Amino acid sequence: MSKYLIAGNWKMNTNLDEAKKITDELHGYKDFDSEVEMLICPPFTHIGFLSELVDLSRVSLGAQNVHYEPKGAYTGEISNEMLLSVGCEYVIIGHSERRSYFNETNELINKKVVNSLNAGLRVILCIGETLEDRESGNTNKVLEEQLTKGLLGVEETINLKIAYEPVWAIGTGKTATSEQISETHKFISNFLNLRFGDNIIKILYGGSMNAENAKDILSISNVNGGLIGGASLKPESFLSIYNSAIELC
Ligand code: PEP
Repeated sequence: MSKYLIAGNWKMNTNLDEAKKITDELHGYKDFDSEVEMLICPPFTHIGFLSELVDLSRVSLGAQNVHYEPKGAYTGEISNEMLLSVGCEYVIIGHSERRSYFNETNELINKKVVNSLNAGLRVILCIGETLEDRESGNTNKVLEEQLTKGLLGVEETINLKIAYEPVWAIGTGKTATSEQISETHKFISNFLNLRFGDNIIKILYGGSMNAENAKDILSISNVNGGLIGGASLKPESFLSIYNSAIELC
């Protein structure tokens, strides 16, 4: 199993040509290391095309969302089975943008987590507190609730990852301090240990990670990778973050 997972969340960015260009640059990287897994999560429309383009043992592909039903009358939705059929291995579930703009609740997120794991996808469950939560001293309470409800009924953790993303640090240029990251990842790790026993679940940090701060963040204990938004659209920055992880192995 790799030591770090470096994952890019492209959000609703790139047309197909742009996506192919970024993917080509990442895929051509000379210094791939099996200790560090590289994952990109482009828009749904590109996944099938990109899986034809890459060696999936070098660059893994993930989606940014999924519906929990396998098929049916759910206009506009995409199922786990559809993702698997185009070479998609991972899915991000519960990103704060989905929670806030699309009203995704912990209950809905839990259905997606359970069904994606059952379908055989690897799941990155995103959790994180708002600035208001942090300032009112409620960070751990909010995270505990997101974890407890989001992971209800989950027993098998081999395909599960958690991304801790303070909402106030996403796309804002603000990163949590090393102390905040360290304390919070420790809290999440303790929760997972209690909930699952001897756990091997990777905990990624997300929130304005970039080429400059990646090494410091990735060196914090219980940080097992990054979920990267803005910087993942720039191959040079994303590869520099990837390389920081290699240097820490
Ligand atoms: C994200 O969207 O998950 C994210 C961390 O974005 P950014 O790196 O741009 O803050």
